[in-house]
Amino acid sequence: HETLLEVKDLKTYYPVKGGFFRRTVGHVKAVDGVSFTLKKGETLGLVGESGCGKSTAGRTILKLLKPTGGSIVFNGEDITKIRGGRLRERRKDFQMVFQDPYASLNPMQMVGDIVSEPIKNYYPRKKAKEIKQEVMELLNRVGLPDDAYYKYAHEFSGGQRQRIGIARALALKPKLIIADEPVSALDVSVQSQVLNLLNELQDDFNLTYLFIAHDLSVVKHMSDKIGIMYLGHIVEIADKKSIYEEPLHPYTQALISAVPEPNPKKKKERIVLEGDVPSPENPPSGCPFHTRCPVAVDKCSTIKPELKEVKPGRQVACILVD
Ligand code: SF4
Ligand code: MG
Repeated sequence: HETLLEVKDLKTYYPVKGGFFRRTVGHVKAVDGVSFTLKKGETLGLVGESGCGKSTAGRTILKLLKPTGGSIVFNGEDITKIRGGRLRERRKDFQMVFQDPYASLNPMQMVGDIVSEPIKNYYPRKKAKEIKQEVMELLNRVGLPDDAYYKYAHEFSGGQRQRIGIARALALKPKLIIADEPVSALDVSVQSQVLNLLNELQDDFNLTYLFIAHDLSVVKHMSDKIGIMYLGHIVEIADKKSIYEEPLHPYTQALISAVPEPNPKKKKERIVLEGDVPSPENPPSGCPFHTRCPVAVDKCSTIKPELKEVKPGRQVACILVD
């Protein structure tokens, strides 16, 4: 497997304005040094509570937000600083599926137009008949009825709208799809259908996924690797099996303990974290998790643990794990 995406020490800070002159008085370190690699055809699940920076990381990688530092290498090309025409050209290769299919699609636009728009933008000389053919096939492939082309987005249910969003994301034949909580706005009954569809499409279209979720149970069937984020940092990253069967970071252990266990014989103890996630504007010193960590020791408030390899393919940021 070749590497498709290499993210190194990625930082995305938002300025905080204050005072009479609205000067920059500080920064929210939404993403504060995130690194990982993703091979072609792989899925990385990026998991954390809201505000941990996972969506910001996804948007920064797609260059929808400007990185403050670090680098993004996509398909062998450093795209960290590219702009203008070169960025536009690259954008064909990476697309986003958004969380809320209600907000991300224009309800008054015809579905055929929604999905053909990116093709028309990028290939203005392509024949209308050809585009229509492609769009029809895409709609079909994502499980929408034949007459969907002439209907409006508002005529569809949430799950179907997400299928429209997926068809649009596929229109330019991308290599990487970043799916930002693509099923969390949907009814539980249709969530698994959309997840299954994404799984099938991955094989058919040779896609690589970065799958963002706030919940470990959603990424379970989707991911090869899982990265756990807390306050702008990846605190643990490993293959899925290791994360589920032997979580090493205390935060991962707490998240795993909250995943419902269908087998009553395997009863496990729920680790309940005290307190709230601290503000990323004013993060704790030392280990960002120390204010809530059930096993913290004194030096956790002064030493900031680096994400480092503790076993082949497993990285953890905790001074107690070695
Ligand atoms: Fe907990 Fe300390 Fe490890 Fe941070 S470094 S996760 S506070 S034990
Ligand atoms: Mg989010």
